[in-house]
Amino acid sequence: MIEKTLAIIKPDAVKKNVIGEIIGMITKAGFRILGMKYTRINKEQAGSFYEVHKERPFYNDLVDYMSSGPIVPIALEKENAIEDYRKLIGSTDPAQAEEGTVRKLYGESKSYNAVHGSDSVENGIIEIGFFFSKSELVLCD
Ligand code: UDP
Ligand code: MG
Repeated sequence: MIEKTLAIIKPDAVKKNVIGEIIGMITKAGFRILGMKYTRINKEQAGSFYEVHKERPFYNDLVDYMSSGPIVPIALEKENAIEDYRKLIGSTDPAQAEEGTVRKLYGESKSYNAVHGSDSVENGIIEIGFFFSKSELVLCD
């Protein structure tokens, strides 16, 4: 099934100057870019994006981190996108991530782990809608 997922290049990876490297890994893996922007979110927006984690001990730090600098949200499409993208980025904790994955290569820690990825088809659609209006999503053919 063709699925959509939301990637975000997080503030730590933007600061490391590896936006290009990460986009290269994503496109080489066969994902189509539907939309992409260089932007920044405030604490309120970060809090609402990560609402599901509100009760978790790391929530406040996560909100501070995600609003601490520019990010690059990217709407992606591919056959089996949810699973394949999560395989490409590796485990939440870079120390546990497989060799060659985005988080292994560029993540700092379980908190500062370079990229976001949607966890389900349903959330992929919801999360893309958080950053992109319909007219900002473009099909190349
Ligand atoms: N996170 C954290 N500490 C944890 C677990 C998660 O700081 O113990 C942060 C981390 O940035 C992670 C995000 O919260 O990417 C969302 O957590 P989730 O469990 O959804 O991981 P993901 O889906 O990003 O792999
Ligand atoms: Mg998640």
